Amino acid sequence: MADLHIENLAKTFKGGFDALRGISLDVADCEAVFLLGPSGAGKTTTLRLVAGLEDATQGKIAIGGRDVTSLTPRERNLAMVYDKHSLFPHMSVFENLAYPLRLRRMTEAAMKARIQGVAETLQIETLLDRRPSQLSGGQMQRVAIGRALVREADVFLLDEPISHLDAQLRARMRVEFKRLQRDFKATMLYVSHDQLEAMTMADRIVLINKGRVEQIATPQQMFDRPETLFVATFIGEPMMNTLPARLAEVDKRFVLTIGTSQVAVDRDWILSGPPLSPGAEYVVGIRPQQIALSASGDSSAGRVNGTVFAVETLGSRVIFDVDLQGAIVRVMTSVDAARAFPRTIGAPISFCVKADFVYLFDAATGRTMRQARFSERKTH
Ligand code: ATP
Repeated sequence: MADLHIENLAKTFKGGFDALRGISLDVADCEAVFLLGPSGAGKTTTLRLVAGLEDATQGKIAIGGRDVTSLTPRERNLAMVYDKHSLFPHMSVFENLAYPLRLRRMTEAAMKARIQGVAETLQIETLLDRRPSQLSGGQMQRVAIGRALVREADVFLLDEPISHLDAQLRARMRVEFKRLQRDFKATMLYVSHDQLEAMTMADRIVLINKGRVEQIATPQQMFDRPETLFVATFIGEPMMNTLPARLAEVDKRFVLTIGTSQVAVDRDWILSGPPLSPGAEYVVGIRPQQIALSASGDSSAGRVNGTVFAVETLGSRVIFDVDLQGAIVRVMTSVDAARAFPRTIGAPISFCVKADFVYLFDAATGRTMRQARFSERKTH
């Protein structure tokens, strides 16, 4: 295996559309890095440039210290896994696995031994005589992965390889993939638009938006310490609540006005880091898990009053959508805690904002100005 280095990669398609606007990232040897982002962000384009299937308009790609930017796909020694459609339908599973090895003129005995080893790891050794049409979705996917693994490529490129599978199988494949990546010590660049997949499987995530990198971090760092409003709202389920807020200084105390409510915030927190301007508009971000519902009608400091807009029951958790007349705030509680609160649409309900759990973003630039205090714990 080898490491992958991408530097200032740009791609302008015919017609002048800038799909990538200078992407830089590194994948260490044996590391699984996920390219995550919304549809059209440039994830697949990045992968295709690394694979050599598209030419870069600008930038450099190096694998194991070797500049491969102008090499053909075959000269790069990469293995790419798409979805199930990449299997040859007229060949048996064995022949599908053998195909890349035959291209390399491997001896029959060496080839059989290699395929047997990979098939055992992937638990497909009983399926070697079948055709792809005689396999389930998950089995087909394992064969597609097997075909990449037998090659012992320097870097594995995966483009949403499990996105078409049903939810249960996807959950199983997530675990299998992670185990395989460790067993095979594979260097992996994996495209996904599914944050759950990235959060559970990635060593690090590269979050891309409109052809640019928003942030590169471990999944936990990205959840706890998002550097932009985009990252904060993209990572986390349910999505982080964001509300316009104004900062004011009253009698040497700092107060955030959110709607008609005021939340006192720590002076040191406000004064540390890049300067904030009292009177200026900010965006406050609070995760649904960090908000506590409270008795209705209470107007003490830090409490925000609204009405029940909707209630979703998720088994062990309940999500209350609280209507603040113009904004909806989602609050996630345990099913036990939820029993104390009304579920009738329109009923008055309140919640309490704890200043330590609040993020503050610049409304104009989207940059994170202050991280929640709870995120000051050490994250990996
Ligand atoms: P998705 O999750 O929907 O697959 P993505 O992040 O992988 O999205 P890309 O496929 O990389 O997105 O596409 C990035 C942008 O480049 C999109 O706006 C797309 O329309 C555009 N694009 C991709 N291929 C071409 C092409 N050959 N010619 C012109 N524009 C293209």
